[in-house]
Amino acid sequence: MADLQTKVIELARRRGIFWPSYEIYGGVAGLYDIGPIGVRIKNKIVDLWRKHFIKDNSDFVVEIDTPALTPYKVLEASGHVDNFTDPVVECNSCHNVYRADHLVEEIAKVTTEGLPPSELDKIIREKGIKCPKCGGELGEVRLFNLLFETRIGPYSTNKAFLRPETAQGMFTSFKRVYEAFRQKLPIGIAQIGKVGRNEISPRQGLIRMREFTIMEVEFFFDPNSDVEPPLDRLYDLEINILRGDDKARGEEKYTKYKFSEIVNEKIVINKWMAYWMGIASNFVNSLGISSFYFEEKLPHERAHYSKQTFDQIVVIDNVKVEISGHAYRSDYDLSRHSAYSGQDLSIFKKFDTPKIVKKKTLILNKDLVTKEGRDFSKTIMEIINTKTVEEIERMILNKEKVLGKDIDMYVKIVEREEKISGERVIPHVIEPSFGVERCLYLTLLNSYMEKDGRIILSLPKRLSPYDIAIFPLLEKDELIKKAREIYDSLKERYDIIFDDSGSIGKRYARVDEIGVPYSITVDPMTLTDNTVTIRDRDSWQQIRVNITDLMNVLDRLFKGEDFNKLGKLVSNNE
Ligand code: AMP
Repeated sequence: MADLQTKVIELARRRGIFWPSYEIYGGVAGLYDIGPIGVRIKNKIVDLWRKHFIKDNSDFVVEIDTPALTPYKVLEASGHVDNFTDPVVECNSCHNVYRADHLVEEIAKVTTEGLPPSELDKIIREKGIKCPKCGGELGEVRLFNLLFETRIGPYSTNKAFLRPETAQGMFTSFKRVYEAFRQKLPIGIAQIGKVGRNEISPRQGLIRMREFTIMEVEFFFDPNSDVEPPLDRLYDLEINILRGDDKARGEEKYTKYKFSEIVNEKIVINKWMAYWMGIASNFVNSLGISSFYFEEKLPHERAHYSKQTFDQIVVIDNVKVEISGHAYRSDYDLSRHSAYSGQDLSIFKKFDTPKIVKKKTLILNKDLVTKEGRDFSKTIMEIINTKTVEEIERMILNKEKVLGKDIDMYVKIVEREEKISGERVIPHVIEPSFGVERCLYLTLLNSYMEKDGRIILSLPKRLSPYDIAIFPLLEKDELIKKAREIYDSLKERYDIIFDDSGSIGKRYARVDEIGVPYSITVDPMTLTDNTVTIRDRDSWQQIRVNITDLMNVLDRLFKGEDFNKLGKLVSNNE
């Protein structure tokens, strides 16, 4: 893939898809500008994600937008201040710093996910791993925190961070959204936004960046509720999964499962998590990518609070890249934010019909206690304040004495019926999380084709930066005027690029390279018989179509009808 990546990176730079940021100052590793063509494709990817994750689930998913600046306390509560780290190792001679687990993986060819620094250190010493740059001795492996730190306002004590994920915005505003939206679980809160991670060794291309865009849903649900996801939408699906058990046995190949098996055999332990993985499959398929699987993380590879985690792995040219992560985060997030903020983030779940419960209550004979004097009063009140009703009941049954007196003289336990209309629940959370630029990059790698020494970006039609290109064949006023008229008649319906410069061959090549699926060419024949040619990006075939039929033919092409059947095939002029 290195070769494929080099070609795509070169194409991206040349055609305005993406390039390293701050190039005039030498660039900064891990920071990329997305260019005019890249932004169009990126926006379409985001739109597609919105459709799959939000619009198609609008009964229970809403979108919000929260700040990238995050106070210290929030990321302390989430655990990022302590745990958002990667292991690093520095060369004692040239002082180059490496991501220790990656270095060990590359050189010792062992998997390192979840290994603590001490274990990595051991492998480095045992295998005699040296600095790849200068051959120098490597220092001790230590943990490096990936949060970008800053201050809010002029006060040096007011520490803050650039968010490393959008999720904390959803957790901290959960109560507000819950109250404003439907006051009912389940509820998914989605967000798309920029995040920063001070990655140790960003790679070339858009795989490991230091600033990127995340699209994620925090899906809040009651683990004891019988509200089911709309699974029937997904029952035609088959999903490749590399299960944890198989992985632990050294298996590296995934198995294909029917979606129903995944749910019924609890391969994915929670139905909602299976649902979101199904939606993620459909979304990645709609990027034109069909080669992917979900890899279950082993307990030591996932966060301690996660009940189950899967990475969705795309395979292109035998290289595996995580396109999304899916985690069952239990009630960890809301519980932690409740504890750190002092705010109750549980919700009140009303029962369909109120329940009658029996409740034991303690009745104290105050007059009698007062008569026994100060010391006795104090001792008995201490017992009442520090023990549960059940513990006191046990004391009575065991005939325990307080300052030599039988306790049941002063305290009685009675059972009463109470009507309760609901209970407080801390919602559990499922999180599907995608990186936008990774989606963009993998889509580009997957779409890249070469034909007769030329490049075609064979993007799915709905992701192309433009739907249509319009070209006057020659630089003649009548042809340009006619082409402009066509442009004006289609521009409300389609994204169109108009180009009248250079040879037609060069113009076709340009739009092939940015993935425009159809080109309309206005030529001298247009002026006599009111027809134009439509050229197909992938086959380079052309059909001749009357301008009066143009809109109809284009609509049918975008619906997926066969190109060759929609007009008269004409000889290819390339
Ligand atoms: P995570 O929160 O680490 O599971 O990341 C969620 C998703 O964000 C991943 O599945 C990737 O698609 C993307 N991602 C994570 N780290 C980076 C990075 N450094 N650069 C670009 N995309 C990333």
